[in-house]
Amino acid sequence: MNHFDYRGGELCCEGVKLGDIAAAVGTPVYVYSTATLERHYEVFKQAFAPRDVLVAFAVKANANIAVLATLAAKGAGADTVSQGEIERALKAGVPPARIIFSGVGKTEDELAFAVKAGVHQINVESIAELETLSRIAAQLRAKPAIAIRVNPDVGAGGHEKISTGKGDAKFGVSIEQAMQYYARAHADAHLDAKGLAVHIGSQIKDLAPLQSAFRILRETTEKLRGAGLSVERLDLGGGLGVPYFNEGDPPAPADYAAMVLGVFEGLDVKLAFEPGRMIAANAGVLLARVVRTQERPSRPILVLDAGMNDLIRPAIYDAYHEIRPVRETNAPREAYDVVGPICETGDTFTRNRALPPLASGDLVAFMTAGAYGATMASTYNARALVPEVLVRGDRFEIVRRRWDLADQLALERLPNWAD
Ligand SMILES: *Cc1c(COP(=O)(O)O)cnc(C)c1O
Repeated sequence: MNHFDYRGGELCCEGVKLGDIAAAVGTPVYVYSTATLERHYEVFKQAFAPRDVLVAFAVKANANIAVLATLAAKGAGADTVSQGEIERALKAGVPPARIIFSGVGKTEDELAFAVKAGVHQINVESIAELETLSRIAAQLRAKPAIAIRVNPDVGAGGHEKISTGKGDAKFGVSIEQAMQYYARAHADAHLDAKGLAVHIGSQIKDLAPLQSAFRILRETTEKLRGAGLSVERLDLGGGLGVPYFNEGDPPAPADYAAMVLGVFEGLDVKLAFEPGRMIAANAGVLLARVVRTQERPSRPILVLDAGMNDLIRPAIYDAYHEIRPVRETNAPREAYDVVGPICETGDTFTRNRALPPLASGDLVAFMTAGAYGATMASTYNARALVPEVLVRGDRFEIVRRRWDLADQLALERLPNWAD
């Protein structure tokens, strides 16, 4: 369910014509729908009612402060993986009591920042991190709440590069280690051991691996409690897939919630979730313009003004994005290869895609681009960093302006070699 539909022959975001945004802001540009963001958050949260759960949006999926503020106003928390993401969440109005700090490579400075900010929970991923955090907490006379991130050795995820839960992945610690480290944290005067966390992958379309991981988490919780250690919280991570239109539908949030509630039935524990893609992907599109087309013996190439620096998912995950013409048409479809302007063969969005005839100047929208789109964008090839627009009803606002070459050059200088 999203709020991108044809109205009067033109693709709109809620009540705004995408063509009007392109005319005002230029292309390429990311466009997000407030109503879709809010709806996805509500659907997820309500699926667990009456159980009160913390839904901490994974900031890495979409870090724009306007997007975070929209979700924060609905009651969402934030799952963060760097100091920068914590600062973005705070700036957007997410209360520290709803911020989770995850990640394998948290530096001492970042840990100290999170402790001082008073975040809800730090998900610890190694014994070395636990020891470092204990020392920092002692120095700061604080007692941060922690969870141990468990690697349940369950494979899942839509692509090898977004699977995190197998035994040899870089994330989390084994069950045996988690039991030891948790006891160690419990005995530590400077740490407040609250529970366990898992996150086994992204773009997961099958509930079975999630269910296996959650069962392991429940068993481990019962063992820890059996050993006299309190476990108040379980963080079940994110990972729920979204439809990218070339594949089967992912589980509905209601089915996911029913599975979770089944696994944890009768267990008195506070549950948290870290959905990213499921909240933001369908709430955004990347709007681009056709620069030109080129005939080839096989099929024509459609060259867009958006490139892999703006949307890198096809290049690194072989990801599929539906491409819709902004002007509605019934014209018969033709096969195109769709590429960007970057000097890399990898800058190919798709090959042999059936699209209506398109010509220089026409607008197209990459659907399902609201997650891992703008956050992964770069200025490669000295291109401007792609801007972002937020739509609400029949209004739109630029929520990140185009970071053009002048902005980039302002940070650079020529060396002054004095000799
Ligand atoms: C990336 C990530 C998420 C979000 O994953 P989605 O697939 O976008 O839901 C949640 N938690 C952690 C620890 C992550 O690294």
